[in-house]
Amino acid sequence: MTGDAPGSCPRLPRAPRRTQRPGCPFCLIVLGGAPATVLREWPETIAIRPRHGGVTDGHVLVIPRVHVADVAEDPEVSATTMLRAAELAGEAGDCNVITSRGPSATQTVRHLHLHVVPRADGDGLLLPWTVARPAGS
Ligand SMILES: [Zn+2]
Repeated sequence: MTGDAPGSCPRLPRAPRRTQRPGCPFCLIVLGGAPATVLREWPETIAIRPRHGGVTDGHVLVIPRVHVADVAEDPEVSATTMLRAAELAGEAGDCNVITSRGPSATQTVRHLHLHVVPRADGDGLLLPWTVARPAGS
């Protein structure tokens, strides 16, 4: 008997590690030192609205409270962050759940973040998130 609540995952960290990186914009948000619209909070993760509103309605960024540069740096943190993104994806309906590792893969902020991007038929959004333009424009 582990004492875990029914349905809980015993591998999840019990409390967030308190490590942030100076100058990291997502660490600043986690610490309350930068403005953000926080949509959901968990002990180890937060979900925010992208700074410019996102590429579709309901676009959310899920970020760990601890500084992790990308999806490969700390697989346990990445897995926990994906768990929370998957919860939000279940509420979003059709969506993309995407993360990038490194500048060549379009990672612009070196703090792990997962995009949950709600999708709809004909929304015109093409991966890698380039809005389709009509021919001749
Ligand atoms: Zn950070």
